[in-house]
Amino acid sequence: MKLSVLDIFKIGVGPSSSHTMGPMNATRQFGLDLLERGLLDVTRQVSVQLYGSLALTGRGHCTDRAVLLGLEGFAPDTLDPDLVEPTLDRIRTTQKLNLMGTHEIEFDEVLDLLWLRDQVLPGHPNGMRVTAFGVGREPIYSEEFYSIGGGFVLRASELGQTDTQGPDVVIPYPFHSGDSLLAQCREHGLEIHELIAANERAFRPAAETEASLLKIWSVMQACVQRGFNASGLLPGSLKVRRRAPKLYRTLSESLEVRPLDVMDWVDAFALAVNEENAAGGKVVTAPTNGAAGIVPAVLMFYKRFEPGACEAGVLRFLYTAGAIGMLYKTNASISGAEMGCQGEVGVACSMAAGALVAALNGSNAHVTNAAEIGMEHNLGLTCDPIAGLVQIPCIERNAMGAIKAINAARLAMRGDGTHKVSLDHVIATMRQTGLDMSVIYKETSEGGLAVNVPEC
Ligand code: SF4
Repeated sequence: MKLSVLDIFKIGVGPSSSHTMGPMNATRQFGLDLLERGLLDVTRQVSVQLYGSLALTGRGHCTDRAVLLGLEGFAPDTLDPDLVEPTLDRIRTTQKLNLMGTHEIEFDEVLDLLWLRDQVLPGHPNGMRVTAFGVGREPIYSEEFYSIGGGFVLRASELGQTDTQGPDVVIPYPFHSGDSLLAQCREHGLEIHELIAANERAFRPAAETEASLLKIWSVMQACVQRGFNASGLLPGSLKVRRRAPKLYRTLSESLEVRPLDVMDWVDAFALAVNEENAAGGKVVTAPTNGAAGIVPAVLMFYKRFEPGACEAGVLRFLYTAGAIGMLYKTNASISGAEMGCQGEVGVACSMAAGALVAALNGSNAHVTNAAEIGMEHNLGLTCDPIAGLVQIPCIERNAMGAIKAINAARLAMRGDGTHKVSLDHVIATMRQTGLDMSVIYKETSEGGLAVNVPEC
């Protein structure tokens, strides 16, 4: 497995890693392809076709906005939120797009961005095709992209590949499953976080990885604070009111300490992140945007409420969470369009549960036990966002997932680390359950809450 922990945690914008960040990365990559092939200057028009889940829930997930911004050359991790609205207004008013920031081309959104709701490309439910045209609308280049979850994008020719760092990286402790990860740790006398840190040194110097992880932690904390300071309604037809600011004020101003206040704080942390995500704010995919609140909420819980919490514990947490995320990404999927919400909130819960054990200096056996519990009780969780917005059930579901992760860590640490269901068993079960799940529960908004709850 040659995934890096920095593949699992990426800084980006809401509301969706698969439907917002992925398409933005794809159209930007398309522009870079044109540049590399010497075709950018001769491109006069571009058309984008969205298929499957991207077409069905893309409007609520802001896929259209992401496609336009990517064609202008913006990337999710460096996007300045203040530039988004003026850029989109300009494109939509003038029907012209500044391709990769180099030259203007015609772009009529009605004709050039097509939502093919009843068609699916063969490689993945989140498929898109981008085509460039020269003079006289002559096609000059076309590519199929698949947004496979967590902001990852593959071309049709790359489907099935899980390594993202290229063939030259040789990691010292390769693993392909939970069992082989534990075996490597036993053989070399390492904790899981130590093994991952050693593997990361194959990608870049240790200091660079640590700095990147601490930056990710600071973006998570800033996101929580922005969510606490915000107010009003979230964008979209549901007119959902933010709950984190009021909960934060209530908790901060309370003179009384009640036994379950800690639970309220964890809820507040998770709600704050996912409300920011729903508003298109800056978040960390962990491992996706829809499930972005769970890992930060549990890490905030660790820092605020666990005696002896420290920066080293934060790093143990993030390395371990990354390891667990890699196992799901490699052996199943972190895409709601493939696995339902068990692949997003379930995976985030599993990552946070195992990671909290590591932060608290639990053993490797306790880590995998907690991660297994965190997924076992999310198996079968469907994805049915109302109105295609990443709001209901998504925001509240992150609060539930964070509490469940803490409980999973506590259950595991009260035991001796032995458990009948292994992490590999539960990952395989999630994958099988996802494959068996009806497509109406896999980010299409064609079943569940999305059809049973009136939109207004
Ligand atoms: S229901 Fe779950 S998987 Fe679906 S969009 Fe919401 S958070 Fe993502």
